[in-house]
Amino acid sequence: MQRTAAVIGGGIAGLASAAALRRAGYDVTVYEQAPAIAPMGTALSIWDNAMAGLDWIGCGDAVRGASAPITQVALSRRDGKYLFGPVALEGMDAWLPMRSHLQAVLADCLGRDRLRLGVRVDGIGEQGDKVEIAIAGSPVDAVDLCVVADGIHSAKASELLGNVPQYRGYLGALGVARAVDEGWPQGLGEEIWHGTERFGLFDAGEGRRYWFYMRSEKDPAALSGIDLAFVQQRVAGWADPIGHALAATDPAATIPVAIHARATPRRLGQGRIICVGDAAHAMEPNQGQGGCQGIEDAWALGVLAGRLSPEAILPEFERQRLPRLKAVMRDSMLVGRVAHSPRSWERGMVRAIFAATSQRIDASQLRRRLRPPTYR
Ligand SMILES: Cc1cc2nc3c(=O)[nH]c(=O)nc-3n(C[C@H](O)[C@H](O)[C@H](O)COP(=O)(O)OP(=O)(O)OC[C@H]3O[C@@H](n4cnc5c(N)ncnc54)[C@H](O)[C@@H]3O)c2cc1C
Repeated sequence: MQRTAAVIGGGIAGLASAAALRRAGYDVTVYEQAPAIAPMGTALSIWDNAMAGLDWIGCGDAVRGASAPITQVALSRRDGKYLFGPVALEGMDAWLPMRSHLQAVLADCLGRDRLRLGVRVDGIGEQGDKVEIAIAGSPVDAVDLCVVADGIHSAKASELLGNVPQYRGYLGALGVARAVDEGWPQGLGEEIWHGTERFGLFDAGEGRRYWFYMRSEKDPAALSGIDLAFVQQRVAGWADPIGHALAATDPAATIPVAIHARATPRRLGQGRIICVGDAAHAMEPNQGQGGCQGIEDAWALGVLAGRLSPEAILPEFERQRLPRLKAVMRDSMLVGRVAHSPRSWERGMVRAIFAATSQRIDASQLRRRLRPPTYR
């Protein structure tokens, strides 16, 4: 008989997990509380490790087809002087899709008839060799496997994993600028650091620029004061392309965001209930790996579901995923500490190291760092 799975949450991790389980032969249903598949944020970077996962799931080329390639990266000061790079990413498979596009591709790959939209799950519990899914307190489904992919605020993941999200001391805003044509190099992704503030600018294709602004703030309530005008005022006088991008951004489409993350998990579920994506391991966004790791979860889950019985998946999933998550989450946190440390000597020291070593960093080192793992 065909095995069944419920996936709670239709974000990147949930949709990718559902598509991967379907590839492994499961009859899958995704429960999503929103009335439509809607992206959180604007665009995001998807690196080699996650592209390999998307290829395994079967939608890598569909993502590549409508995304801008990331072909070089750099880190600079606000006066334009480079601290690192620009490094040409020769041979790398790095892309910048709009989030709406990525989620649409994943939903199509899964099959939209597998989605139950506008349905908020409020109960998940093991009953014998099934997992019961409840809506408004009443059981609606009993499945062989349940994937918890309901994002950073997942109560079920907090209960099972014991790692609640915490504010990480910095916040800012995201946006996409339309039709900017001031000659910004194609395929470039650049961060500009000044004090405890930073600005990221990525070519998003078709003349668009994806940007983000972050600043250290002790109190996350400061988020209420963040809008496009605030960002423009803070970065006035920084390198030209920043001002052009902000001027071409719709103020209403600027998204304020306070950075929260979970502590590195020591487990990833219980029995037949498996937590993936931000529900399990929301991390600081400093390496562009949060969504990529959700895609890796899906890839690993699909591979294991293809060869193991539902109750045997979790221990092997934890064995293969936990060490990898630990390393990626540590690096994401370290970059956040360097960029937003309140101690100027700490920021200055690390930036000097960047400046001194940047000439020795090349694409092969980045390639090694982002090399896809093997799941079996
Ligand atoms: C500033 C910033 C920049 C980032 N940049 C990058 C980047 O460049 N590259 C990258 O890979 N990652 C990046 N990330 C991380 C990435 O955005 C997240 O890791 C990713 O979107 C998480 O996806 P998810 O599916 O786990 O969770 P979510 O996208 O939060 O999806 C969870 C879904 O579950 C639904 N849901 C919640 N509760 C229920 C319920 N009870 N019942 C039914 N449905 C429910 C929600 O409606 C939602 O649709 C960035 C993050 C931030 C904050």
